Amino acid sequence: MFDLILRGDQVVTPQGTGAWDVCVKGDTIAAIAAPGTFADEQAGRVIDARGKIVIPGGIDPHIHSSWYIPAIEEGGEVTMTDGPDIVSRAAIHGGTTTLLDFATWQQDRTIEEVINVRKQDWTGKCYTDYGYHIMLQGAIPPEVLPQVAEAIQDGYPSIKIFTTDITPSRKGRKITHGHIWEIFKVLKKEGGIGAIHAEDDEIVMHMYDVLQREGRTGFENLAEVHNSMSEDLSFRRIILLAEHVDGTPLYMMHVSAASGVAAIEAARAKGFPIYGETLHQYLMFTHEHYKRPNGQIYHTYPSLKETSDQDALWEGQLRGSISTVATDEICCTLSTKTQGHRIDDTTGGNAGCEPRVSVMYTEMVKKRGYSLAKFTDLVSANAAKIMGMYPKKGALAAGSDADITVLDPGQKRTVTAARLHESDYTPWEGYEAEVWPSLTVLRGKVMMQDGEFYGDVKDGQMLKRKVDEAIRNRPVI
Ligand SMILES: [Zn+2]
Repeated sequence: MFDLILRGDQVVTPQGTGAWDVCVKGDTIAAIAAPGTFADEQAGRVIDARGKIVIPGGIDPHIHSSWYIPAIEEGGEVTMTDGPDIVSRAAIHGGTTTLLDFATWQQDRTIEEVINVRKQDWTGKCYTDYGYHIMLQGAIPPEVLPQVAEAIQDGYPSIKIFTTDITPSRKGRKITHGHIWEIFKVLKKEGGIGAIHAEDDEIVMHMYDVLQREGRTGFENLAEVHNSMSEDLSFRRIILLAEHVDGTPLYMMHVSAASGVAAIEAARAKGFPIYGETLHQYLMFTHEHYKRPNGQIYHTYPSLKETSDQDALWEGQLRGSISTVATDEICCTLSTKTQGHRIDDTTGGNAGCEPRVSVMYTEMVKKRGYSLAKFTDLVSANAAKIMGMYPKKGALAAGSDADITVLDPGQKRTVTAARLHESDYTPWEGYEAEVWPSLTVLRGKVMMQDGEFYGDVKDGQMLKRKVDEAIRNRPVI
């Protein structure tokens, strides 16, 4: 007896896409069976998903919730972004069932302490399953390195590292390459992976000076500050450092430029374990969008770039250098998102958790002819593999968590903020999506069906992760 049988004719499994019945018992998938193997009477509930697309629940490997937005003026008010309750509810509506956020280490704390503090933001307050990357910053005292090792062993294997302070007002984030070298030694030995925000700090800060001197401080010039040469220099340098530390595995966050894609590909060609993430805003917007009304809504750091960069990000998906599409979610109001107007005070991040899967289906499958398997890899399975959650997450397979998303081609939709569940704006306003989720299941529980929400804020569970050895040793996906 199953709790649920979901009958579909386009079910994306690791063995291929086809007509299968997904049989759920409790939290997990008990069987992927040939159609009709089990009768309706053998399940507590039967859902007919024929004519629709059935994929494992979406995974967004890069979000920020309950996150500080720096004050615009010195001494001004710091804003907090929306919490996991808001972000994860939107995620469920959009077909995403797993989120990876961050726990930020601070100089006077241990890593264990900051994880425990972060848990207070999340425990019992999230509709999706979730995990944390550990974010390091600044100078790393030697006594913190064993804590990094412990964190990796304890299920937090991905360590976020900034090579830049990003803006002149955010000093303290950048980690120098000497410290990164020491961190990489720990990552390589203990089974971790570096999650890197790579920009060349000297070039970026130089460009802030140049544009300030020239009086061109409007945010529409952000691509000149956070430019593609900076991505080239910083990617090449940190990748080379990782290569020197016996091929430390790297996950390059929010790749934005052709130069970044090329750097990843060069390292992969040599057999190093390196994976690229891009954001759906980088795939769809260029720096020309900054000139639109409320142009800040399209921005996240580093910056939007040229059409040629966008082309490289798409091609990178086909060549394997771009493995995941994340959001870098920052859920805040339009007024907060547009409060800064300058190159040095514009708010990064986007509200994009909800439309991500449907927008990417439209762009990948409908417009570019990707297979459903390739699309599923990019919005779910690859993130699970790289971040150490596979096959518990990211797979419709016996034994996997019963996280299931059904995309309905009968629900074509014009994206509008009013129908989303995040913010009062969306960068995708007016976008014509070719599908929309009609069903989201989290570990066997129907969380959303036909727009009705059935989730409980206590449904989400914290995930401990362990990155597979193959992922850490060579570029396997
Ligand atoms: Zn981020």
